[in-house]
Amino acid sequence: MNHPEPTSAPAHFILNRIRKEVDAGLYSRVVTRFPPEPNGYLHIGHAKSIVLNFSMAAAFGGYTNLRFDDTNPAKEEQRFIDSIKEDVRWLGYEWENECFASDYFEALFGYALHLVDHGLAYVDGQDADTIRAQRGTLTEPGVNSPDRDRPPAESRDLLERMRAGEFPDGRYVLRAKIDMASPNINLRDPVLYRIRRQHHHRTGDDWVLYPTYDFAHGQSDAIEHITHSLCTMEFEDHRPLYDWLLEHLPVPSRPQQIEFAKLNIDFTVLSKRRLTRLVDEGQVAGWDDPRMPTLAGLRRRGFTPVSIRNFCNEIGVTKSEGIIPYGVLERHLRDDLNVHAPRRMAVLRPLKVVLTNFPENETEWFDAANHPQNPEMGSRRVPMTREIFIERDDFMEDAPKKFFRLKPSGEVRLRNAFIVRCDEVVKNDAGDVTELRCSLDPESRTGQPNAERKVKGTIHWVSAQHAIPAEVRLYDRLFNVPHPSGDKERDFIEHLNPASLEILDTAWLEPTLADAPPGQPFQFERLGYFAPDLDSTPEQPIFNRAVTLRDTWAKIEKELGGA
Ligand code: ATP
Ligand code: MG
Repeated sequence: MNHPEPTSAPAHFILNRIRKEVDAGLYSRVVTRFPPEPNGYLHIGHAKSIVLNFSMAAAFGGYTNLRFDDTNPAKEEQRFIDSIKEDVRWLGYEWENECFASDYFEALFGYALHLVDHGLAYVDGQDADTIRAQRGTLTEPGVNSPDRDRPPAESRDLLERMRAGEFPDGRYVLRAKIDMASPNINLRDPVLYRIRRQHHHRTGDDWVLYPTYDFAHGQSDAIEHITHSLCTMEFEDHRPLYDWLLEHLPVPSRPQQIEFAKLNIDFTVLSKRRLTRLVDEGQVAGWDDPRMPTLAGLRRRGFTPVSIRNFCNEIGVTKSEGIIPYGVLERHLRDDLNVHAPRRMAVLRPLKVVLTNFPENETEWFDAANHPQNPEMGSRRVPMTREIFIERDDFMEDAPKKFFRLKPSGEVRLRNAFIVRCDEVVKNDAGDVTELRCSLDPESRTGQPNAERKVKGTIHWVSAQHAIPAEVRLYDRLFNVPHPSGDKERDFIEHLNPASLEILDTAWLEPTLADAPPGQPFQFERLGYFAPDLDSTPEQPIFNRAVTLRDTWAKIEKELGGA
């Protein structure tokens, strides 16, 4: 048989296993699902799961469902559903069916009655603490509930009355009747239903009892005819329970579960509980704060979908957990933007330069390539005037020999324009440099005799008359230790990096950047990759630094002995 290789997805144990099954004729197509709980925004860890699920279905002629696992009404909200859909689409995937576990509440209740009728589940009247205490430990078996042998007819009656709302919250639970002595604690008569009077975002107040995640999960897969239920390692020990339920229920299909390791990245946290705290405590500006490892945050920062998909493909799929350096994610963005981001000039920390032999009130337009290696990306015109801004640290008064930018009496080429010489340094009373007075070599323009004249340095610049003022936000790691949540002594919040956001509010951009749409990334030459923030407007542009030109952290991480 001939199977299309998933586009750019390298082989891994799940792909190999499914291929064998398909070759053996066990499946004619592969159906997967991505099953987020709508209680937060998706993060980069979820991207790994999304890429895996969608690429496996695509590789074997099937499809993927998006299923909201909304069995816990307490924490679920519509805005999370909306953001999840937006983020999956942004990553480049379209699901076949949009499903909700809550759509199966009726079917699940029917399954519960089926178990009861067959003596495979019983209504237990003990309270939660007692049930927990009876579960036993890894070394000790559990204790049978006194209600374990309640006759099926009695359990059915109680279960129906539980549904009818006759009992207060917590009065009864429904438990599977499996084996209190099982070495696998998940099989020690797990709870399947709890009475909880809670408003559900979709079913409203229809239900006063809700299925547990363990009861809903496998059956939802079966109802949707999912062939491969791909999930993370923590569910490995739950698989025997899911299999037991599928075996004993009249489900329409028989999914198989395969577990893989979660993605971890250093210098950040990837758990919704912790991300929720960052948002709720105001440690960040919101779920889409560009420092957050959420897809909404990464997008706002300037990450591209392809860079995230490439990252997920590179890290691969295994059963053993590792911690991926944050720099790997950034490298994929840099690699993508290096090829695709148009070049522009911007000055982040301005120093004024007066070109003394350039006429006043005149503008000269220079051609500037949008990408030095890709002529197909075209060019634009940038205005030169008598007064310009350069980067403050492109000038140094007492410069060492190896400083090839501007220094007193030194020469430098202004990118796309001509060579200038620094004739005079103007200072204020405090001794700070406030202005440079330079003269230009008119013969060093393109097409002139000195066009090829070599000087050691080339720097970027913008016209003071034409440039547009902007706010630029520089981001750094959100935490200042590699494993913020691995510290048993201190709360992860204590490891927040106080310098993770630096705001520069006196930056200047070349005029072509005025109406760039939010999220459109550019390379600011010599500075890094930047994209307009969501709040950016033509009147008040705000740019986020997506990633630096080079990986300054690789060195630091090496020194820390990490990653
Ligand atoms: P979190 O730990 O962030 O709360 P979760 O597992 O509770 O994650 P879900 O909404 O249930 O969040 O996750 C949806 C899917 O994404 C699940 O199949 C889950 O296994 C997968 N997933 C969650 N986190 C990661 C991760 N770090 N790496 C890979 N897959 C993940
Ligand atoms: Mg989960």
